[in-house]
Amino acid sequence: MTLVVAGNSDGVYGRCDAKCHNATEPECHCICGGRFHGKGSGTAELRQAIEERTEEVLTALRAKGISFHLAEELSQRSLF
Ligand SMILES: [Zn+2]
Repeated sequence: MTLVVAGNSDGVYGRCDAKCHNATEPECHCICGGRFHGKGSGTAELRQAIEERTEEVLTALRAKGISFHLAEELSQRSLF
């Protein structure tokens, strides 16, 4: 599942999706900054990271002036 897609008028800056969540390499180049890295798609660990750290990821993107959109599942949460 794609969690967050970041981009501006120039195009897609990056995305956080299953490629990141299911990564086995420790290095993360994803927009989540490693917060959701290697947690495993659909696992409780990933869900917990989403609960606790999505706000951080979005704050970091905003700080860089990068616009983004969230997976529908996330944008429906009362948190946002
Ligand atoms: Zn990621």
